[in-house]
Amino acid sequence: MKIKKAVIPAGPMKPVLVTGGAGYIGSHTAQELIKEGALVVVLDNLTTGHRDAVRAEHFYEGDIADTALVEHIIKEHQIQSVIHFAAKSQVSESLAKPELYFCENTVKSFMFFEAVMKAGVKHVVFSSTAAVYGIPKYIPIREETMLAPINPYGASKRMIEECLEWVGKVHGIRWVALRYFNAAGASLDGSLGEDHGPETHLIPLVLQTALGLREKLSVFGADYVTSDGTCIRDYVHVIDLANAHILALRALEHSMQSGIFNVGTGKGSSVLEIIEKSEALTGHKLSVAYEERREGDPPILVADSEAIKGVVCWEPRYSNLETILSSAWRWHSTHPNGYRQ
Ligand code: UDP
Repeated sequence: MKIKKAVIPAGPMKPVLVTGGAGYIGSHTAQELIKEGALVVVLDNLTTGHRDAVRAEHFYEGDIADTALVEHIIKEHQIQSVIHFAAKSQVSESLAKPELYFCENTVKSFMFFEAVMKAGVKHVVFSSTAAVYGIPKYIPIREETMLAPINPYGASKRMIEECLEWVGKVHGIRWVALRYFNAAGASLDGSLGEDHGPETHLIPLVLQTALGLREKLSVFGADYVTSDGTCIRDYVHVIDLANAHILALRALEHSMQSGIFNVGTGKGSSVLEIIEKSEALTGHKLSVAYEERREGDPPILVADSEAIKGVVCWEPRYSNLETILSSAWRWHSTHPNGYRQ
């Protein structure tokens, strides 16, 4: 990828619609946008999101495929840009119900973009995923790496990127797709965090086990060709991810061309490393059960994020494991039932 620095204007941002703003990454991004002084409108159907995670002044409970509602919101709030998070995101569920993922993620995003275009919005930041790469041949993974998703979740997201490529070209929409690696951590003030039902992600499961909410932690596969046999992932703090969206949006609102960027730290951590660091942090020894590999898990996913660093000057500030785990620990220990009282 050719790296050309974008201009990132300072000052107030234009009104922005955040779909999936009641979800994990969406809620943190909405909170950071509000801190930047943006008028934020959240659209979320609350099938997986939480009303209590919404910090925006304007909230609509509804579906991204409700094109009349989307057009109404855009007109009502003079929305200039959208950040599109709303999606189903569980790899295991996508393997069991691929049709659900192509419908909820791909088809509904196509409908959403049609409404966005009709209403005259010209800038889109889209929440994509490292799952579009499948099992990459080379690590760290660059954006040019061949795309070969190994689960319907990754495939459903890649199709949305392709849709943006065409829609952007034909209708003059400028867009950015951010392919993130493993989102982790919680807001530093402890008010927002990760709450999935069911929980499938490593760090929340580790910390819930440390809290005694789960009996044991399963390690899926200890026979991978990695330093300790367990899978390696690139964990990136959710606030760093939120800032990547904001920088991309600011640059698009100025004059940046469309593009796709990885968002990760370039540093991998194994499952065992996460367990050991969590044990040291929490002071609780975990009961661990070694199990078969989980279907759809690539052995190593680590990002090359030089492009986003070069173009919009993104730098991870909170993505060391200590900050990730301590912020997540604060959230889980003060919200053992997530957003439920
Ligand atoms: N993992 C694990 N036990 C669990 C959950 C996850 O060993 O209970 C492993 C999983 O196999 C993967 C890594 O932890 O290698 C990160 O999984 P997670 O679901 O958090 O994120 P993913 O990389 O699948 O998006």
